[in-house]
Amino acid sequence: MPAATSTYVVELTPVGKAAVAVVLVAGPDAMRAVDECFTALSGRQIREAPVARIILGRWGGPDGEELLVCRRAIDQVEVHCHGGTAAVRSVIERLCERGCKPTSWHDWLLRADSDPIRAAAQIALADAPTARTAAILLDQYHGALTAMIRRAIDAADSGRWPAAMDSLDALLKHRATGMHLTSPWQVVIAGPPNVGKSSLLNALIGYQRAIVCDLPGTTRDVVGASTAIDGWPIQFSDTAGLHDTRDELESAGIEQATAALASAALVLLVAEPTDGIGHTTSSYSLSRANIDARLPRSVPVVRVHNKIDLLAARDRVALGEQYDVLTSAITGHGIAALIAAIGQSLVSDPPAEGAAVPFAAEQVQRLEMARATVHNRDATAVVASLHPLLSSN
Ligand code: GDP
Repeated sequence: MPAATSTYVVELTPVGKAAVAVVLVAGPDAMRAVDECFTALSGRQIREAPVARIILGRWGGPDGEELLVCRRAIDQVEVHCHGGTAAVRSVIERLCERGCKPTSWHDWLLRADSDPIRAAAQIALADAPTARTAAILLDQYHGALTAMIRRAIDAADSGRWPAAMDSLDALLKHRATGMHLTSPWQVVIAGPPNVGKSSLLNALIGYQRAIVCDLPGTTRDVVGASTAIDGWPIQFSDTAGLHDTRDELESAGIEQATAALASAALVLLVAEPTDGIGHTTSSYSLSRANIDARLPRSVPVVRVHNKIDLLAARDRVALGEQYDVLTSAITGHGIAALIAAIGQSLVSDPPAEGAAVPFAAEQVQRLEMARATVHNRDATAVVASLHPLLSSN
């Protein structure tokens, strides 16, 4: 850890009401500042206390709040006080009056940890929505990404270009997954009106999030719902039915649907018997080409044929060749297959335990830059691209 010149005060527990809050005081003046605010029941000063000893006392004079402090390192002490907002603010203000600088726990970690990737992984861990994404971030916290970047640098430095390329390929392999360890994949449910998009959303998430109605045009705003599939965080969006309409409200909904499609990681394109995808018998249908034209080029699509409970068995067999999944939102048929198809489309090759996974845009950008310079066999440029990821100096 670099020698700190300032003493910082950091609220470690989340802001808001709680039973207990923890405030860290860290830096060369930490013991002096706390000794000026805190009187131990034993009468001993914190600067004389052994590390890890929990000490009961009062904050702000003999009538002050009773609380605990604990010295965590030679220059770090934690104050465990009442969790109310005012109580925490008063502890922090008193320390600031004694020269401490307030800072967020994010900034504190980035400043205090000499390994920027470890600090960033620790920050990201607090936002990991599932155990699976947390486990991947924990691997990066324990050094998987740092070690592989070092390996790439060493290989480039010693002119082992195939090895450098292999390391960078391994580093970039899981970049898409890495970008979704704290923020969900956007999965958009689209298709003509009335094909069962809202019903499918409800079936996928297991509760009634969207209104289901046999009147076309019920869903106008984009309706969102968060869930996890195979431990991957997903934000589903149920969109207005895509069709030609003069209705102003519906047109606005279709515009929103088109915008949602533009930022989708995956589209579930839903059809029903006699609907517009491939058939044009319905009065509000669009041709398949017309719907396809609204889909962003690069986005993967899972083609879903819903309402198969209305079909005879032989028709189902024929449809099975045209669609990725056949479902019935009413009977639940095919929902498990649809969930599996979504997981497989988003992450077809999940990172193995302990794999290096870049999880921030800057990491991916620098790894891509390094990969481009490996092609030119320019070791200086490879190190210049990667070194900032390993050291904040
Ligand atoms: P959306 O407009 O595409 O969102 O369609 P909805 O989910 O609102 O459903 C339209 C109508 O189709 C409603 O009456 C639903 O009950 C019905 N529906 C939805 N899914 C199925 C299904 O799998 N089978 C049958 N038989 N009806 C369905």
